[in-house]
Amino acid sequence: MEKEAAEKRTCPSGGELAGKVALVTGAGRGIGRSIALTLAEMGAVVLVNYNGSRERALEVAAEIEKAGGQGEAIGCDVSDYDACGKMAEEVIRKYARLDILVNNAGITKDNLILRMTEAEYDRVLDTNLKGAFNTIRHFSRYFLKQRSGKIINISSVTGVMGNAGQANYAASKAGLIGLTKSVARELAGRGVCVNAVAPGFINTEMTDALNEKVRENMLAAIPMGRMGSGEDVAGLVAFLAGGRSDYITGQVICVDGGMAM
Ligand code: NAP
Repeated sequence: MEKEAAEKRTCPSGGELAGKVALVTGAGRGIGRSIALTLAEMGAVVLVNYNGSRERALEVAAEIEKAGGQGEAIGCDVSDYDACGKMAEEVIRKYARLDILVNNAGITKDNLILRMTEAEYDRVLDTNLKGAFNTIRHFSRYFLKQRSGKIINISSVTGVMGNAGQANYAASKAGLIGLTKSVARELAGRGVCVNAVAPGFINTEMTDALNEKVRENMLAAIPMGRMGSGEDVAGLVAFLAGGRSDYITGQVICVDGGMAM
């Protein structure tokens, strides 16, 4: 299915995001991949960040180029503050700007609170929450200088509703909402919009790992009765990355088939 969609993709040079540079963290697979392909389709130069999935990120960049766009894979563990600093320097040295930053990289290490290890808690917070702080911290000065920009943080309905067995993940995703609103207030006067997207139950490798019982329970909680796709999330990110959302900042928007309403 991914292949079929890719064959139909074209990246027109005069798209809505022509001349813009976008960085999507964790874009070698899953939701990040869909976001990267969609932003490229809208004409942006897309930097496809990866940590472990180098080959897959190279494939995403190649797919963008094949469709007539411009994409480049860029390795960096977002939980590493200094590495994010180097990535920011590299991006600015090469492209002289960044217009769209999508903090999508995220992991789960589920466990009930009585069994959750300190390492499970720390790893999830370091990646999902500190990772977004790290990139925002290093790129903000460029957004401020440009007096424009879009920062989009991929949170989760779990950060809004909580979920048994995911105290670490829910804390990281709720933390992202606080980070989003605070940075939105700091940067609003300089034309930079900062918003959070909260996906519900999306079909990716992250949810492939769930057992049948959990999947059934999740599906039963979705009024629309189906899982979402990466493209469902990418559609909202596309809106928040483009000019039609220039007066929207500090918001948390769910893409969840009605799950969290
Ligand atoms: P996924 O298929 O498991 O992909 C996770 C992505 O995060 C991978 O591209 C991975 O890159 C990247 N990543 C993990 N640790 C990283 C690090 N330290 N540095 C850089 N990249 C890192 O998950 P997904 O479902 O696409 O999830 C994407 C985002 O949506 C996550 O933030 C997740 O929490 C959120 N979300 C997902 C769902 C859902 O139902 N799937 C629901 C709500 C929110 P590498 O493979 O290169 O390491």
